[in-house]
Amino acid sequence: MLDGLDPEQREVATALGGPVCVLAGAGTGKTRAITHRIAYGVRSGVLQPASVLAVTFTNRAAGEMRGRLRQLGAGGVQARTFHSAALRQLQYFWPKAVGGELPRLVDRKVQVVAEAAARCRIRLDRNELRDVTGEIEWAKVTQTVPEDYPAAAAKSGREAPRDPAEIARVYGMYEQLKRERGVIDFEDVLLLTVAVLQDRHDIAETVRRQYQHFVVDEYQDVSPLQQRLLELWLGDRDSLCVVGDASQTIYSFTGATPDHLLNFRHRHPHATVVKLVRDYRSTPQVVQLANGLLSQARGRAAEHRLELVSQRGPGPEPVYAEFADEPAEAEGTARRVRELIASGVPASEIAILYRINAQSEVYEQALADAGVPYQLRGAERFFERPEVREAGLLLRGAARAGGHSDPQLADVADVPSQVRAVLSTRGWTTEPPAGSGAVRDRWESLAALVRLAEDFVRAKPEATLADLVAELDERASAQHAPTVEGVTLASLHAAKGLEWDAVFLVGLAEGMMPITYAKTDEQVEEERRLLYVGVTRARVHLCLSWALSRTPGGRPSRRPTRFLNGLRPGSAAPRAGFAAAAGQGGIERGVRPKRRGSARCRVCGRTLTDAGEIKLMRCEDCPSDLDEGLYERLRDWRAEQARRLGQPAFCVFTDKTLLAIAEAVPGTEAELVCISGVGGRKLGKFGADVLTLCAGGDPGSEDASHDASEDSPEK
Ligand code: ATP
Ligand code: MG
Repeated sequence: MLDGLDPEQREVATALGGPVCVLAGAGTGKTRAITHRIAYGVRSGVLQPASVLAVTFTNRAAGEMRGRLRQLGAGGVQARTFHSAALRQLQYFWPKAVGGELPRLVDRKVQVVAEAAARCRIRLDRNELRDVTGEIEWAKVTQTVPEDYPAAAAKSGREAPRDPAEIARVYGMYEQLKRERGVIDFEDVLLLTVAVLQDRHDIAETVRRQYQHFVVDEYQDVSPLQQRLLELWLGDRDSLCVVGDASQTIYSFTGATPDHLLNFRHRHPHATVVKLVRDYRSTPQVVQLANGLLSQARGRAAEHRLELVSQRGPGPEPVYAEFADEPAEAEGTARRVRELIASGVPASEIAILYRINAQSEVYEQALADAGVPYQLRGAERFFERPEVREAGLLLRGAARAGGHSDPQLADVADVPSQVRAVLSTRGWTTEPPAGSGAVRDRWESLAALVRLAEDFVRAKPEATLADLVAELDERASAQHAPTVEGVTLASLHAAKGLEWDAVFLVGLAEGMMPITYAKTDEQVEEERRLLYVGVTRARVHLCLSWALSRTPGGRPSRRPTRFLNGLRPGSAAPRAGFAAAAGQGGIERGVRPKRRGSARCRVCGRTLTDAGEIKLMRCEDCPSDLDEGLYERLRDWRAEQARRLGQPAFCVFTDKTLLAIAEAVPGTEAELVCISGVGGRKLGKFGADVLTLCAGGDPGSEDASHDASEDSPEK
């Protein structure tokens, strides 16, 4: 089981006791390491399968994880989203905790928000409605009640789409409407579970007896509410393993934050912390672009970036393509997809990723026109689609009848033929129907079932129709959809955690990437991370494209995304910010980057003239991402050094330099020496101590004290 892991991954898999945190970039095998960890624990008898709860962020990822666990012989382990795990517990405990049935989930939240606004006599246009709904969701996951919303939004620096007092009123009315109708929303599921576990110790104890070990994938996107739930599940135990990549934080607009990941070792000082940098997924060409994108990133997540090192052989350079308009871009993409399929790349190994779901339509049309099969991601779960449920019932009926009572099945022997015969009564045909839309979607689902039957029988030649039905049931309960043999169409958000041989990132024009409503620096940075997520989905082929106008004949007024400036051929480098000055491929060990002509704020990019600001590497009033615990420890350490050397504290480091260190949390000497106020001499004298502190250690307890005493004569 451990053979397929590298030494660091193996460390993760075998650290079965106590807290574990894996900080690693895209494609480095985080998900692989944790599935192996669970399976290793189960197979070695250390973990009881039923006592493990693995949590991920999308249903698709949870299904994927269940599939991998089954393959590794740990099928009994629960792998769920926070939401589905909470919903299950809430449904179970509701009659005991509250009485009666759990209220129904609201169907169309935006509709209820619109009604609430109307009742408050507040007119919202479509965009405002979307944004106000987003604010309500944010308030709920940060556990902010309506009356506290204005203060909380101001404190978090949120740009409210309307007067915060108005939003608070709409939010209050929305809650009232739900109560009147006896419905709950998505966020309520988590809020109510938290409330039940908090108030009812007996129920919390029952849940804790059941689940003793927790594993969380994509932990960088945990919301405060999910974090609270996780803490309640955990109680005072510490069998928690989290993995994530701060550079892939793409849900902070909903209140998620990588702080829990980045501060993990402060909260769990005895945690095993493992970093992975070997990228097993992508070629050096793809990895170079990914590293280049990150080197231009700013903010706290960016300061924790890890440079990826590809483990694969070389592949083609990324392709950049500019088109006159969107239909031309879609057609060009479909053509290139066909070429790839013709050259031997399976359709299921190709994905077209876009920023918003509304972009899918033009690609659906272009692929249908080109005769390329496709499937949409992020739509309904496979086994919940009406046509799949209906087909399941028919197959069950046929299996019960032994496959013989139906005249259509009388003389067909093998299981796939029986399945084809049953499904042809529901619209399955050998060839797909023309065009896109609902008929096509339905056909794709039925075709996937036929393929599943074929694969199943290939693996188990003696299987009967009844065996297949049992397999379908098992998969349905495991939410593991069969791979549909088509090109995947998905939003960048829905592509998180997944990978394909070939990836097309489309619509990369300003306005779409970054999306127009990303206005603040933080929002723009999140868009950059979203593009990074997109780039790192590709194993080998990567194509990035944009269109200069939306419609044919329109004014070619669009520009390619700023995020590719300096990275795609023929583009000018972006303004030299802090990160860019450090060089595209990241900072090389021990090499001090030459200072550019002027210093710029690493948050907003403004030229800095004030000496204090230059030291801080940002404007005084630009948002700080200070690690306060670290700052306090650095100050204590400095006081100690000053005492020891008989010098004033500022001779060790000034406040500004300490602040800059606590914000940047350097992980290497090269990163530390970039901070203004840390010269070569101070690096030699204090570098080891500071890095130990930044890594969460205690310099006094290790051989770092030895370094300091050795250095003291040199003062
Ligand atoms: P992401 O950040 O995108 O979620 P990840 O860190 O979870 O990525 P995985 O999906 O676990 O990465 O792994 C990426 C790919 O690399 C997978 O195809 C996986 O099977 C492969 N891989 C990971 N580790 C190894 C290894 N030690 N040897 C061979 N292949 C590996
Ligand atoms: Mg992963």
